[in-house]
Amino acid sequence: MKKIRVNLDKKVVSTYEICIGQDVLDRIGLFIIKNMPALHYIIITDFNISALYGKLLLERLRGMSLPADIIDFPAGEDAKNIGTAVAIVERLIRLGADRKSALLALGGGVVGDMTGFIASTFMRSVPYIQIPTTLMAQVDSSIGGKTAIDLPAGKNLLGTFYQPKGVYVDVKFLDTLPDEEMSSGLAEVIKYGVIDNVEVFNFLEKNIKAIKRRDRGVLAEMIENACRIKKAIVEIDEKELGIRRVLNFGHTVGHAIETESDYTIPHGAAVSLGMVAALRISERMHDFPYGDRERIESLLESAGLFCSIPRTITTDGIMTRLRADKKKEGDTIHFVLLKKMGMPFINGGVPESILRETVEGLKK
Ligand code: ADP
Ligand code: ZN
Repeated sequence: MKKIRVNLDKKVVSTYEICIGQDVLDRIGLFIIKNMPALHYIIITDFNISALYGKLLLERLRGMSLPADIIDFPAGEDAKNIGTAVAIVERLIRLGADRKSALLALGGGVVGDMTGFIASTFMRSVPYIQIPTTLMAQVDSSIGGKTAIDLPAGKNLLGTFYQPKGVYVDVKFLDTLPDEEMSSGLAEVIKYGVIDNVEVFNFLEKNIKAIKRRDRGVLAEMIENACRIKKAIVEIDEKELGIRRVLNFGHTVGHAIETESDYTIPHGAAVSLGMVAALRISERMHDFPYGDRERIESLLESAGLFCSIPRTITTDGIMTRLRADKKKEGDTIHFVLLKKMGMPFINGGVPESILRETVEGLKK
């Protein structure tokens, strides 16, 4: 098992561990006794994960004589709303939870965001840990302390920065993860390789077959590499004021496509298209090497991430969403571009005409 320490400032209270391995779930009781002592532990999860792993975790904790309960809610982004948050809080109160209780977020990004949000506000905050079960959550959303729920006006509009007491990643969870969810997480891992570390990119290229076979050893190494990159960036810029914005690589055009598709295109696939757009613009405006762009596109394809925008999504629609983006100044739109692999820069100004041509070029 590998451990990564996240140091957010000089104070000991905001230092925590990310543990990655194949037997983490078996040892979770020991971790929480050490890192998150509490009088009552409540697992928060969604219906799917509750059936797969929730009861198991509950029994583990109770088997160690830890007072534990479980609350589950419907799976999927649609449930990440204020109604669900209130319903969970009401169940916490009925279970007798108070300021000496602690929460365990067992699930993907939706469960992590929801549990973190409740932990940061319930009784003016209680401690929590993340036990991410999707690749996306293991390499991205569980690290960094962002919490949020969606409002009718948009996603993640109500949220906080609130760090967990620990992140516990068991690669065994990925055995049951649907392929589409796996690909979505791989988009973020490929992103880390491209913006930060060519060796990580080379590792992915070399091992993509093993990754798709869900080889646990390879997955553990991949996740550890990804977590190290995200942790390093988060440590420098906890509140996303500067360098953390490089993590938005592929996300400007990606979000526009995701929203324009009414969320029928998964996040990872949309980000993959956004990365291809940013790479093609980087090649055209900043001499990003053609060969590297081809390599990245080919890896995205092998990872099951399609590299063309469906015809049903209009260029005009995407452009309107990009124009509404707050990063726009005059008739240039700002986003993360690359000079070469591992050398991103934020605030790359792109003329609308080039952006339009690039998006058009990505159509099937
Ligand atoms: P993300 O982490 O991509 O934001 P979600 O939290 O929306 O993902 O979870 C995506 C879907 O995958 C949900 O339906 C969830 O119940 C399911 N899921 C999460 N983890 C697993 C797992 N390890 N095995 C099977 N299904 C899972
Ligand atoms: Zn993302």
